[in-house]
Amino acid sequence: MSNPIPANNAPETPKTSNFLRQIIEKDLAEGTYATRRWAGSPGDAAHHAAGAPDPAKIRTRFPPEPNGYLHIGHAKSICINFGLARDYGGVCHLRFDDTNPEKEDTEYVNSIIDAVKWLGFDWSQPGNDKPYQASDYFDFMYRAAVHLIETGYAYVDEQTAEQMRINRGDFGKPGIDSPFRGRTPAENLARFTDMRDGKFEDGSMVLRAKLDMASPNINLRDPAIYRIRRATHHNTGDTWCIYPMYAYAHPIEDALEQITHSFCTLEFEDQRPWYDWLLQRLIEGGLLSAPPPRQTEFARLNLTYVITSKRKLAQLVYDHKVNGWDDPRMPTIVGLRRRGYTPESIQLFAERIGVTKSDSWIDYSTLEGCLREDLEAKAHRGMAVLNPVKLIMTNWDDVMGAGHLEPCTQPALPHVAEGTEPPPPRHFTIGKEVWIDREDFEEVPPKGYKRLFPGNKVRLKGGYVIECTGCIKDIDGVITDVLATVVPDTKSGTPGSETVKVKAAITWVGVADGQPAEVRMYDRLFSDAQPDAGGKDFIESLNPNSLKVVTAIVEPSLANALPDQKFQFERHGYFVADRVDHVTGSKPVFNLAVGLKDSWGK
Ligand code: ATP
Ligand code: MG
Repeated sequence: MSNPIPANNAPETPKTSNFLRQIIEKDLAEGTYATRRWAGSPGDAAHHAAGAPDPAKIRTRFPPEPNGYLHIGHAKSICINFGLARDYGGVCHLRFDDTNPEKEDTEYVNSIIDAVKWLGFDWSQPGNDKPYQASDYFDFMYRAAVHLIETGYAYVDEQTAEQMRINRGDFGKPGIDSPFRGRTPAENLARFTDMRDGKFEDGSMVLRAKLDMASPNINLRDPAIYRIRRATHHNTGDTWCIYPMYAYAHPIEDALEQITHSFCTLEFEDQRPWYDWLLQRLIEGGLLSAPPPRQTEFARLNLTYVITSKRKLAQLVYDHKVNGWDDPRMPTIVGLRRRGYTPESIQLFAERIGVTKSDSWIDYSTLEGCLREDLEAKAHRGMAVLNPVKLIMTNWDDVMGAGHLEPCTQPALPHVAEGTEPPPPRHFTIGKEVWIDREDFEEVPPKGYKRLFPGNKVRLKGGYVIECTGCIKDIDGVITDVLATVVPDTKSGTPGSETVKVKAAITWVGVADGQPAEVRMYDRLFSDAQPDAGGKDFIESLNPNSLKVVTAIVEPSLANALPDQKFQFERHGYFVADRVDHVTGSKPVFNLAVGLKDSWGK
């Protein structure tokens, strides 16, 4: 067979080794999984035995529960799982872990598919481009449970939830056997069949694995594996009234899919002995093929000023603290995207933070730095005035001619890689009146101030040198116009333009061709670096100034920006065009993605 492994996963960024890579490299060197077969779809031992040797050297998976939108923490997991599969000649499965009927929804399924694709990854394999779903394995999970019962490894427990909790013991106290633990396989099988057939009330009994009620690992004290729950499942409808528990379902899902390396976050470390125990029993019984997948844990992403819990993010949405899952302040993939993040910047971030075995906090500025780095070379430049005040060149009509508009050009990108065609330049005009930022004029300049103040010369970037002569104020003392004179023969790019020396260049937009735009100046959503740590109420540290909307004036090249196009507003930062809200107006809308420098808290 030719190599069917798709080469369509995201481009590689430079890598450093880490413990996950070392585990994979060791397994590849030792041929740990070399004997595996793959029948082209998930299945039991017999199914795969009939298949060919697995062309994928490793199989990893990203298994989200479709109960919310993916966030930056999931992006880390996606980059790890898809990235490692790509780097080692493997395949990464996208699998919906949809064994819990209550909270799941196809809206989330679709958003997850979009997010993974947008990040630049692809799970499709020849003849198979649908993601997997755990609920497709319900039949096998049921069969596996029957097998455990028949081999004396599972029993139906009719204790109340409260009795079960008390009898489980705790860290210092061994558990107590359930009075139902001694039932025969035949009795248990009859009971379990009745459970499935809907003969018992929700919650009246569970199926438990029979391990060791005295185990120091509480997860091994006869974990529940099936519960009764009458709920309509988004995939299987009302076929089932019993559903497998996550810790039982997950190892089976991995094994049916011939996963080699099951990477998960640290909170599952204590579950690993159960994962291994369960798969071993099912391999012994001939239900699953050997070798089993192996679970390895890594530290989840904790990012300062950010919450990465689907439940808490949902609360922000439903309590209208933000404007939906894709609010540009949200750490969801859809939110980051509207904020101007690129797939490349998120991949770079995942690579840069690496993977470790112990929990730590990553500073938010690391994420911002990755975006800046990515956009620096890509984002077209443009001038925008965020806090406009009019500047009048009082000698313009005399020197340049009344009403004259002088055309100007500036490159869209200051540098392009060798061999690359530069994008077309920007065109705009300069006339007697231009908009400048209020902060670029001071009547009485503070020490070291180099921009406009009476008597000082600056360059209007891409235009002329001007000399400030003063300002006009209204009766409240608010400056309405800044006054200046244009210095002839200083137009940028013309011979001799550099002979008049200035200490600063300021950005501006012509009054004649500038267009108004709505600019959303986003800031961090929380003012506490660890908003939900230690049980804190994260709502209390919501930053009341996380969104300020201003009406800016932008140069013509920005006025027709399409949603998702990124720009560097010179001297201000990176901005992304957003969809225009036709209810409130038809002005273009821009979102602040990230400032030019890390200035947080400075
Ligand atoms: P949440 O607590 O936000 O609901 P979850 O872990 O329950 O997250 P799942 O849909 O079960 O969400 O997660 C899918 C995968 O993403 C899992 O393998 C999980 O370990 C991983 N993941 C979730 N959050 C993070 C994070 N902050 N950092 C790294 N990986 C994460
Ligand atoms: Mg979860």
